[in-house]
Amino acid sequence: MPSNIFAALADYHTHTPLCRHAEGWPVDYARIAVERGLGELGFADHNPMPEFFDDWRMLRDELPRYFDEVEKARAQFPQLNIKLGLECDFIPGYEWWIQELADMADWDYLIGSVHYLPGGWEVDHPKYIARHQGGAEEIWRDYWALLGRCIRSGLFDFIAHPDLPKKFGITPQGDLRRFYEPAVAALAETGTPFEINTAGMRRDCHEEYPARSFIDLAHSAGVPLLINSDAHRPSDVAAGFDEAAALAKDCGYTHTLRFAQRQRSSVPLA
Ligand SMILES: [Zn+2]
Ligand SMILES: [Zn+2]
Repeated sequence: MPSNIFAALADYHTHTPLCRHAEGWPVDYARIAVERGLGELGFADHNPMPEFFDDWRMLRDELPRYFDEVEKARAQFPQLNIKLGLECDFIPGYEWWIQELADMADWDYLIGSVHYLPGGWEVDHPKYIARHQGGAEEIWRDYWALLGRCIRSGLFDFIAHPDLPKKFGITPQGDLRRFYEPAVAALAETGTPFEINTAGMRRDCHEEYPARSFIDLAHSAGVPLLINSDAHRPSDVAAGFDEAAALAKDCGYTHTLRFAQRQRSSVPLA
Protein backbone atom coordinates (compact mmCIF):
# COMPACT_ATOMS: atom_id res chain seq x y z
CA MET A 1 0.00 0.00 0.00
CA PRO A 2 1.43 3.45 -0.87
CA SER A 3 2.59 5.56 2.04
CA ASN A 4 -0.01 8.26 1.29
CA ILE A 5 -2.54 6.18 3.19
CA PHE A 6 -0.69 7.26 6.35
CA ALA A 7 -0.94 10.93 5.44
CA ALA A 8 -4.73 10.54 5.29
CA LEU A 9 -4.90 8.89 8.69
CA ALA A 10 -4.58 10.02 12.28
CA ASP A 11 -3.62 7.80 15.20
CA TYR A 12 -5.66 9.09 18.14
CA HIS A 13 -5.35 6.20 20.59
CA THR A 14 -1.87 6.08 22.12
CA HIS A 15 -0.62 5.79 25.70
CA THR A 16 2.23 7.09 27.87
CA PRO A 17 4.21 5.80 30.85
CA LEU A 18 1.84 7.70 33.15
CA CYS A 19 -0.57 4.75 32.89
CA ARG A 20 2.11 2.43 34.29
CA HIS A 21 1.89 -0.15 31.49
CA ALA A 22 3.15 1.79 28.45
CA GLU A 23 6.57 2.99 27.37
CA GLY A 24 7.72 6.05 25.43
CA TRP A 25 6.82 9.69 26.04
CA PRO A 26 4.81 11.76 23.55
CA VAL A 27 8.00 13.08 21.91
CA ASP A 28 9.03 9.48 21.17
CA TYR A 29 5.64 8.72 19.60
CA ALA A 30 5.74 11.95 17.62
CA ARG A 31 9.16 11.10 16.18
CA ILE A 32 7.79 7.79 14.82
CA ALA A 33 4.61 9.46 13.54
CA VAL A 34 6.71 11.95 11.54
CA GLU A 35 8.94 9.15 10.20
CA ARG A 36 5.86 7.22 9.05
CA GLY A 37 4.26 10.29 7.45
CA LEU A 38 1.15 10.07 9.63
CA GLY A 39 -1.41 12.84 9.11
CA GLU A 40 -2.01 13.49 12.81
CA LEU A 41 -1.12 12.00 16.18
CA GLY A 42 -3.20 12.10 19.34
CA PHE A 43 -2.76 10.92 22.90
CA ALA A 44 -5.47 9.14 24.84
CA ASP A 45 -4.01 7.80 28.02
CA HIS A 46 -6.18 6.00 30.58
CA ASN A 47 -8.17 8.57 32.55
CA PRO A 48 -7.44 9.32 36.17
CA MET A 49 -10.19 8.54 38.66
CA PRO A 50 -11.20 10.89 41.48
CA GLU A 51 -9.35 8.72 44.00
CA PHE A 52 -6.91 5.80 43.76
CA PHE A 53 -8.70 3.15 41.71
CA ASP A 54 -6.30 0.63 40.15
CA ASP A 55 -2.66 0.39 39.09
CA TRP A 56 -3.06 0.92 35.33
CA ARG A 57 -3.98 4.59 34.92
CA MET A 58 -2.50 7.98 35.69
CA LEU A 59 -3.26 9.56 39.03
CA ARG A 60 -5.35 12.68 39.26
CA ASP A 61 -2.37 14.86 40.19
CA GLU A 62 -0.41 13.53 37.20
CA LEU A 63 -2.71 15.28 34.69
CA PRO A 64 -0.48 18.41 34.55
CA ARG A 65 2.51 16.21 33.69
CA TYR A 66 0.43 14.62 30.91
CA PHE A 67 -0.40 18.04 29.47
CA ASP A 68 3.28 19.08 29.73
CA GLU A 69 4.52 16.00 27.88
CA VAL A 70 2.03 16.55 25.04
CA GLU A 71 3.12 20.21 24.87
CA LYS A 72 6.78 19.14 24.64
CA ALA A 73 5.96 16.94 21.66
CA ARG A 74 4.07 19.82 20.01
CA ALA A 75 7.06 22.11 20.52
CA GLN A 76 9.57 19.59 19.21
CA PHE A 77 7.51 18.51 16.17
CA PRO A 78 5.64 21.63 15.00
CA GLN A 79 5.14 20.05 11.55
CA LEU A 80 2.83 17.41 13.11
CA ASN A 81 -0.69 18.11 14.35
CA ILE A 82 -0.74 16.65 17.87
CA LYS A 83 -4.07 16.22 19.61
CA LEU A 84 -4.92 15.91 23.29
CA GLY A 85 -7.39 13.22 24.30
CA LEU A 86 -8.18 10.75 27.01
CA GLU A 87 -9.42 7.15 27.04
CA CYS A 88 -12.14 7.18 29.67
CA ASP A 89 -13.51 4.08 31.39
CA PHE A 90 -17.28 4.08 31.43
CA ILE A 91 -18.20 2.93 34.94
CA PRO A 92 -21.81 3.41 36.04
CA GLY A 93 -21.92 5.88 38.91
CA TYR A 94 -18.90 7.82 37.67
CA GLU A 95 -20.58 9.76 34.88
CA TRP A 96 -20.23 12.91 37.01
CA TRP A 97 -16.46 12.41 37.03
CA ILE A 98 -16.24 12.19 33.25
CA GLN A 99 -18.17 15.47 33.12
CA GLU A 100 -15.66 17.02 35.51
CA LEU A 101 -12.73 15.67 33.49
CA ALA A 102 -14.25 17.14 30.34
CA ASP A 103 -13.85 20.61 31.86
CA MET A 104 -10.25 20.12 33.00
CA ALA A 105 -8.53 20.71 29.64
CA ASP A 106 -9.01 21.70 26.03
CA TRP A 107 -9.51 18.11 24.96
CA ASP A 108 -9.65 17.38 21.26
CA TYR A 109 -11.64 14.22 22.00
CA LEU A 110 -12.69 11.88 24.80
CA ILE A 111 -12.79 8.17 23.98
CA GLY A 112 -15.30 5.95 25.79
CA SER A 113 -14.19 2.44 26.76
CA VAL A 114 -15.54 -0.47 28.73
CA HIS A 115 -12.86 -2.51 30.49
CA TYR A 116 -14.65 -3.12 33.82
CA LEU A 117 -17.57 -5.53 34.05
CA PRO A 118 -20.14 -5.75 36.87
CA GLY A 119 -18.37 -7.09 39.94
CA GLY A 120 -15.41 -4.85 39.22
CA TRP A 121 -13.06 -6.94 37.06
CA GLU A 122 -11.27 -6.11 33.81
CA VAL A 123 -12.51 -8.09 30.81
CA ASP A 124 -9.16 -7.68 29.00
CA HIS A 125 -6.82 -8.50 31.90
CA PRO A 126 -4.79 -11.69 31.36
CA LYS A 127 -5.21 -12.69 35.00
CA TYR A 128 -8.89 -13.35 34.26
CA ILE A 129 -8.49 -15.51 31.12
CA ALA A 130 -9.98 -18.53 32.94
CA ARG A 131 -13.26 -16.67 33.40
CA HIS A 132 -13.66 -16.49 29.62
CA GLN A 133 -13.32 -20.25 29.25
CA GLY A 134 -16.86 -21.57 29.59
CA GLY A 135 -18.20 -18.16 30.61
CA ALA A 136 -17.98 -16.25 27.37
CA GLU A 137 -21.75 -16.01 26.78
CA GLU A 138 -22.43 -14.30 30.11
CA ILE A 139 -19.33 -12.10 29.86
CA TRP A 140 -20.36 -10.92 26.41
CA ARG A 141 -23.92 -10.25 27.57
CA ASP A 142 -22.63 -8.09 30.44
CA TYR A 143 -20.02 -6.35 28.31
CA TRP A 144 -22.30 -5.38 25.43
CA ALA A 145 -25.03 -4.18 27.78
CA LEU A 146 -22.50 -1.87 29.39
CA LEU A 147 -21.07 -0.76 26.05
CA GLY A 148 -24.59 0.23 25.02
CA ARG A 149 -24.87 2.41 28.14
CA CYS A 150 -21.42 3.86 27.43
CA ILE A 151 -22.50 4.84 23.90
CA ARG A 152 -25.86 6.25 25.03
CA SER A 153 -24.27 8.26 27.86
CA GLY A 154 -23.40 10.93 25.30
CA LEU A 155 -20.16 11.60 27.22
CA PHE A 156 -17.76 10.48 24.50
CA ASP A 157 -16.64 11.55 21.04
CA PHE A 158 -16.06 8.00 19.89
CA ILE A 159 -15.98 4.46 21.24
CA ALA A 160 -12.85 2.31 21.63
CA HIS A 161 -12.27 -1.32 20.64
CA PRO A 162 -15.96 -2.37 20.43
CA ASP A 163 -15.50 -6.16 20.75
CA LEU A 164 -12.69 -6.12 23.32
CA PRO A 165 -13.81 -9.33 25.14
CA LYS A 166 -12.53 -11.41 22.17
CA LYS A 167 -8.95 -10.39 23.08
CA PHE A 168 -7.89 -13.88 24.19
CA GLY A 169 -9.49 -15.57 21.17
CA ILE A 170 -12.45 -16.87 23.21
CA THR A 171 -15.94 -15.95 21.96
CA PRO A 172 -19.48 -17.28 22.49
CA GLN A 173 -20.91 -19.84 20.06
CA GLY A 174 -23.03 -18.83 17.09
CA ASP A 175 -23.61 -15.65 15.15
CA LEU A 176 -22.07 -12.80 17.16
CA ARG A 177 -24.17 -10.20 15.37
CA ARG A 178 -26.74 -10.68 18.14
CA PHE A 179 -24.27 -8.69 20.30
CA TYR A 180 -23.24 -6.22 17.61
CA GLU A 181 -26.68 -5.16 16.41
CA PRO A 182 -27.85 -3.31 19.56
CA ALA A 183 -24.46 -1.55 19.83
CA VAL A 184 -24.54 -0.44 16.20
CA ALA A 185 -28.12 0.78 16.71
CA ALA A 186 -26.96 2.82 19.73
CA LEU A 187 -24.07 4.29 17.71
CA ALA A 188 -26.39 5.18 14.83
CA GLU A 189 -29.10 6.68 17.06
CA THR A 190 -26.64 8.83 19.02
CA GLY A 191 -24.40 9.69 16.04
CA THR A 192 -21.38 8.25 17.84
CA PRO A 193 -18.39 6.99 15.81
CA PHE A 194 -16.27 3.94 16.70
CA GLU A 195 -12.66 3.01 16.04
CA ILE A 196 -11.08 0.15 14.19
CA ASN A 197 -8.40 -0.62 16.79
CA THR A 198 -5.42 -2.52 15.37
CA ALA A 199 -4.24 -3.75 18.80
CA GLY A 200 -6.43 -6.80 18.28
CA MET A 201 -4.10 -7.86 15.45
CA ARG A 202 -1.32 -8.06 18.04
CA ARG A 203 -3.39 -10.18 20.48
CA ASP A 204 -4.53 -13.82 20.58
CA CYS A 205 -7.68 -12.98 18.60
CA HIS A 206 -5.41 -12.01 15.63
CA GLU A 207 -7.80 -9.51 14.09
CA GLU A 208 -8.76 -5.87 14.52
CA TYR A 209 -11.38 -4.77 17.03
CA PRO A 210 -14.17 -4.87 15.95
CA ALA A 211 -14.80 -7.90 13.72
CA ARG A 212 -15.59 -7.34 10.07
CA SER A 213 -19.29 -8.17 10.47
CA PHE A 214 -19.58 -5.34 13.03
CA ILE A 215 -17.96 -2.94 10.56
CA ASP A 216 -20.35 -4.07 7.81
CA LEU A 217 -23.36 -3.44 10.08
CA ALA A 218 -21.97 -0.05 11.11
CA HIS A 219 -21.44 0.97 7.50
CA SER A 220 -25.01 -0.02 6.60
CA ALA A 221 -26.24 2.10 9.53
CA GLY A 222 -24.16 5.12 8.46
CA VAL A 223 -21.89 5.11 11.54
CA PRO A 224 -18.53 6.85 10.95
CA LEU A 225 -15.23 5.29 11.99
CA LEU A 226 -11.63 6.10 12.84
CA ILE A 227 -8.55 3.90 12.64
CA ASN A 228 -6.30 3.78 15.72
CA SER A 229 -3.40 1.67 16.98
CA ASP A 230 -3.91 1.72 20.78
CA ALA A 231 -0.08 1.89 20.88
CA HIS A 232 1.47 1.33 24.30
CA ARG A 233 4.96 1.88 22.81
CA PRO A 234 6.18 4.20 20.05
CA SER A 235 6.98 1.40 17.57
CA ASP A 236 3.26 0.57 17.44
CA VAL A 237 2.21 4.00 16.15
CA ALA A 238 0.07 3.40 13.04
CA ALA A 239 0.68 -0.36 13.32
CA GLY A 240 -1.54 -2.30 10.93
CA PHE A 241 -3.01 0.86 9.41
CA ASP A 242 -2.63 -0.30 5.81
CA GLU A 243 -4.58 -3.48 6.56
CA ALA A 244 -7.20 -1.63 8.62
CA ALA A 245 -7.71 1.01 5.92
CA ALA A 246 -8.08 -1.71 3.30
CA LEU A 247 -10.67 -3.43 5.49
CA ALA A 248 -12.61 -0.20 6.05
CA LYS A 249 -12.67 0.46 2.30
CA ASP A 250 -13.71 -3.11 1.59
CA CYS A 251 -16.65 -2.61 3.97
CA GLY A 252 -17.65 0.47 1.94
CA TYR A 253 -16.09 3.27 4.00
CA THR A 254 -14.65 6.19 2.03
CA HIS A 255 -13.92 8.59 4.93
CA THR A 256 -12.39 8.73 8.38
CA LEU A 257 -12.60 11.43 11.05
CA ARG A 258 -10.42 14.13 12.53
CA PHE A 259 -11.14 15.84 15.84
CA ALA A 260 -10.25 19.30 17.11
CA GLN A 261 -11.64 20.71 20.36
CA ARG A 262 -14.28 17.98 20.38
CA GLN A 263 -15.56 18.97 16.93
CA ARG A 264 -15.27 16.36 14.22
CA SER A 265 -14.64 16.64 10.51
CA SER A 266 -14.63 14.03 7.80
CA VAL A 267 -11.59 13.38 5.60
CA PRO A 268 -11.20 10.95 2.68
CA LEU A 269 -9.46 7.63 3.34
CA ALA A 270 -6.85 8.61 0.74
ZN1 LIG B 1 -3.65 0.43 28.27
ZN1 LIG C 1 -8.74 0.37 26.10
